[in-house]
Amino acid sequence: MTKKTIKDIQPKGKLVFLRLDLNVPLDDHGKITDDTRIRETVPTIRHLVSGGARVVLGSHMGRPKGEKKPRFSLKPVARRLGEILSTEVQFTGETTGSAIEQAKDNLKEGELLLLENLRFAAGETGNDREYAKQLSRGIDIFVNDAFGACHRSHASITAITDFIPLSVAGLLLEKEINFLKMALDSPPAKTTLILGGAKVSDKIPVVRNLINQSNAILIGGAMAYTFLKSRGIQVGNSIVDENALDICSEMMKESDQRGGLIHLPVDHVAAIKIEPNITVKMTKSGEDIPDNMMGLDIGIETIKTYTGIIGKSELIIWNGPMGVFEVNTFSAGTMEIAKAVASANATTIIGGGDSVAAVNQAGVADKITHISTGGGASLEFLSGKELPGIAALSDK
Ligand code: ADP
Ligand code: MG
Repeated sequence: MTKKTIKDIQPKGKLVFLRLDLNVPLDDHGKITDDTRIRETVPTIRHLVSGGARVVLGSHMGRPKGEKKPRFSLKPVARRLGEILSTEVQFTGETTGSAIEQAKDNLKEGELLLLENLRFAAGETGNDREYAKQLSRGIDIFVNDAFGACHRSHASITAITDFIPLSVAGLLLEKEINFLKMALDSPPAKTTLILGGAKVSDKIPVVRNLINQSNAILIGGAMAYTFLKSRGIQVGNSIVDENALDICSEMMKESDQRGGLIHLPVDHVAAIKIEPNITVKMTKSGEDIPDNMMGLDIGIETIKTYTGIIGKSELIIWNGPMGVFEVNTFSAGTMEIAKAVASANATTIIGGGDSVAAVNQAGVADKITHISTGGGASLEFLSGKELPGIAALSDK
């Protein structure tokens, strides 16, 4: 890593601003339904606390659009974090202002203060310099451990670093970067990229950037239908991104020159609409999807081919489910791929909110080498883009 990390700093007595991604899902009653993101922040917090830092924690939650909306408050997060750490996490319900300044001044070594949702101020997503300056008041060191927000130029991610002399990566951010950089810079010979899900336009740049590093690219999910249509194959009512047809066709030509590197599904589970217990058609290998139906999962032949390739891989990068896995009728493809990835004798990296949910649903999350905490950020990184939040950190 070319950027400084918390292993390069002496935090004792320093006032540290630690930017985290504590954007956890809440139910209708404001209860945290999954605290993975909170637990992921513990190593960096412990490192700073045991090093004697006075720590100000900041995070966003949801999209309150610059307004103080109580249902996006970080108060329940402060409580949960305190329970996990077995220590008090101070919380005043503000992000800036005199109460916060006083709380910062009063922080003793090893103590923690969590700010309210940074996006309650419009300046956060606006990357406002004045807001960044207020957040940075009195801060000696900025630590970024919010990988999932590093593709955003927001005040607490980028602008803030202009007002603090030293900006470094936290342990989680460092781990994320090391895994993804390995995939980009030194992938093993048998590297397999699996892409699925719905957002073709987000994933095409990843195909383009990794086409030379990959030994096989397996396409599934809704995005497969744009690729299939670009080859002139009938896809019925399946979701197609018309704007991406040309680029898919180009990718397929490149794939042909490389001996058929990109694999598309040959059979499908199709139905008239997305509904549990609806009658499905399992198309035969090479058979068209009927005009009134959509492809909603990969079929048995495709699963066989894909799991065979997965089993021979040394590195597997997966983003995006193979079908509408939320509905039981269309989940088999994604579940089989998840199990194959988990049991492969390979380094495995998974990113994307729905993909991570799918791996959990399959019960194999603990067999994955690295589950990325940032879907969008990991896609941009794998596309070869420089993430603004990482670029802003101090060089080694
Ligand atoms: P991730 O969150 O892992 O990056 P995406 O958000 O891109 O993944 O895509 C996940 C969504 O794609 C899921 O909600 C899933 O139901 C949907 N999906 C997958 N395959 C299909 C398909 N064939 N038709 C319609 N939707 C699909
Ligand atoms: Mg998603």
